Amino acid sequence: MARRGGQKRAFVEIDGAAGEGGGQVLRSSLALSLITGAPVRIKNIRARRSKPGLLRQHLTAVRAATEIGDATVTGDELRSSALEFTPKEIRHGEYRFAVGTAGSSTLVFQTVLWPLALTPGRSRVVFEGGTHNPKAPPFEFIARAFLPLIERMGVRVRASIERHGFYPAGGGRFVVEFEGGVSWQPLHLRERGELKQVRAEALWANLPKGVADRELLALRDGLGLTRAALRSREVKSVGPGNAVLVEVESERCTEVFADFGARGRPAEEVAEAAMKEARAYLDADVPVAEHLADQLLLPMALAGAGSFRTVTPSLHTTTNIEVIGRFLDVDIRVTNETREDGPARYLVRVGDDEL
Ligand code: AMP
Repeated sequence: MARRGGQKRAFVEIDGAAGEGGGQVLRSSLALSLITGAPVRIKNIRARRSKPGLLRQHLTAVRAATEIGDATVTGDELRSSALEFTPKEIRHGEYRFAVGTAGSSTLVFQTVLWPLALTPGRSRVVFEGGTHNPKAPPFEFIARAFLPLIERMGVRVRASIERHGFYPAGGGRFVVEFEGGVSWQPLHLRERGELKQVRAEALWANLPKGVADRELLALRDGLGLTRAALRSREVKSVGPGNAVLVEVESERCTEVFADFGARGRPAEEVAEAAMKEARAYLDADVPVAEHLADQLLLPMALAGAGSFRTVTPSLHTTTNIEVIGRFLDVDIRVTNETREDGPARYLVRVGDDEL
């Protein structure tokens, strides 16, 4: 791991157009810069997205990283495609980071999570913005799939949602409390163990309840679920919104698959999209699905060890491995274990641990 030093350090140079070319390159770079103390210079930010550069969500992540790390920064403007970020010291405490639009606040959370979790002392952070956005982790994925795993790695955080935020109104709010300072426990998640339960939930706000009823009907028939495994939940939100969540609980982990209602999109289609991902996961017989895979790399790299089995690595995963390698001296190896005619199966190993 790079160390903080008295003298000026060279910038780690990151090309935001490389690989996946989205916001994760920026978020991982900011988190790793804060943790290692290495200044970072990023060009071509989100160059592979249709609206490149810093959008409100990314700018909020930059501002949040700047605030917790007492950093100096240039290029922190909307639509900016280049940034220089030099952190000083991470300070725990009370913070509030508001995206100001429906942009994803769970992704802002993932930017400051590791620096605050690693810094001794208590922090309490309020995140405001979207909590249920397409192409971002919904709050329930964070709370039910992601946090339980990182808690097993020794990270002490608690998250609770006060208000859901859907596109386009946003206005969601959740609170995370960090008990800073981690004593890392390596996590090895190679099998998911026995399947315990599949549950489905339809969330709705300021919409006719019938939308959720139709989704649950489709989920019941499509996944063969009993009534006890279905839940319709009306949530508080400033605007209308709807999400479908399919939760697969196994002996060793829980995965959450989501999709989101949108104006003009039939309820059955939303349910089908979430079910499709859940079915693919059930067929794959691995513990970690696509999204969890790219999000487990950073904590495992920080822990210096860990492993998991997963589906075909996404471009987010391979790009995140590259970015992590620019800051941390830790080996991440991906082995294809797919058998002939079998579903994709990959082993990801982090560090020297040869369990
Ligand atoms: P980016 O597109 O680079 O801003 O990164 C998006 C992040 O959100 C990645 O870590 C994805 O794995 C994650 N993500 C996208 N959709 C979901 C989802 N449905 N559940 C959980 N995580 C997601």
